[in-house]
Amino acid sequence: MTQTANSNLTEAQCLDANDPLANRRDHFLLPAEQIYLNGNSLGPLPVAAQQQARVLVEQQWGEDLISSWNKHGWIDMPVACGEKLAPLLGAAPGQVVCCDSVSINLFKLLTAALTLNETRSVVLSTSDNFPTDLYMVQGLQELLGEQRCQLRTVATGELSASLDSSVAVLMLTQVDFRSGAMLDIRKLTAKAHEVGALVLWDLSHSAGVVPLQLDSWDVDFAVGCGYKYLNGGPGAPAFLYVNARLQADIRQPLCGWMGHKAPFDFTSEYEQAGGIARFLTGTPPILSMGVLSAALDVFAGIDAQQLRDKSLALANTFLASVDAIDELKSLQLISPRDPEQRGGQLAYAHDEAYAICQALAAQGVQTDFRSPNLLRFGFSPLFLSHVDVVTAVQKLQEVITQQRYVEPQFRQRKKVT
Ligand SMILES: *Cc1c(COP(=O)(O)O)cnc(C)c1O
Repeated sequence: MTQTANSNLTEAQCLDANDPLANRRDHFLLPAEQIYLNGNSLGPLPVAAQQQARVLVEQQWGEDLISSWNKHGWIDMPVACGEKLAPLLGAAPGQVVCCDSVSINLFKLLTAALTLNETRSVVLSTSDNFPTDLYMVQGLQELLGEQRCQLRTVATGELSASLDSSVAVLMLTQVDFRSGAMLDIRKLTAKAHEVGALVLWDLSHSAGVVPLQLDSWDVDFAVGCGYKYLNGGPGAPAFLYVNARLQADIRQPLCGWMGHKAPFDFTSEYEQAGGIARFLTGTPPILSMGVLSAALDVFAGIDAQQLRDKSLALANTFLASVDAIDELKSLQLISPRDPEQRGGQLAYAHDEAYAICQALAAQGVQTDFRSPNLLRFGFSPLFLSHVDVVTAVQKLQEVITQQRYVEPQFRQRKKVT
């Protein structure tokens, strides 16, 4: 080991010793000898989630069967899960519910927002927004016609100038899934409101890592993912937020029975539930919801600012370690250097990004690749240490200097990349 590597390691150990979140590592089951820098894509398994999965399957489903809807509160889980999450979003009770996927929640909220602002039709977004967000607007445009819904995309730098009185909804993702660049929700929301537009924020790469103040920023609508930094498990229910001030006037189009005022009256006319429950559609996936609920308990007693501080500190350790190594100059940072301008990840461009990602995984460092040439490193604050990060950079250095990535097995593209 070189002297620099040694001193990096000593410094990392020191940072770990002073990390107030260090003890949360024990709340997760992670494979031995693996460094997981992919918590921004699929959070790892919390111990409590594994235990709850067993209870749900073996005891609640297996033994208590249908009585569990009442006995174990299954029927209330979407709203209860939403309330558990609300503090991390800066939301007072009654405004968050866990359900469906981000895509479906976008559909519900976009349609509701367009109906609230019905003299306008434009949904303004950025051209590099996460594809599903743009696809959902494209689908809605086809369904409703351009008179009612029209997607307009611009570069991030042109957002302010593009906000005019034709915009019905400003639909943005706070943290860019590629670069990690972070938008200012408070400012953009205020600007949108000035021209009479509503806002819909996608918080998929924010919830659980970036402090949010949806109420005090006066956000109208938001959606986000349950399986990234929230560690809710593969395909975990997503969440949605609707500001209380809008709830009285609002209707959503996927008005299934779970959003009905009295689903078990089985009346033939839809009458929407009061409050946030009206955004539900069909029967909740109880196994997934129960796992997400247990995963959210890991955040109990943690302030969102602590998550942010830890995540940025880890990213800083990574950035400084990469910067210090000459052989890593071929990696081109595409994330903002200024920590205030980014979320919980760093992304680097490299022509061999895919193969490097595979070769790193073979060395026990899991990261991800995003087409066409990005290597993405996620700094999830609850289970990573600074020593993990320094070790990961050492492995990255080995893979690149020894050109391990040229081996043919690392160059075969799989279905999920
Ligand atoms: C991960 C992610 C999604 C996922 O959408 P699903 O419909 O839940 O699969 C949506 N938007 C953004 C910005 C994401 O990062």
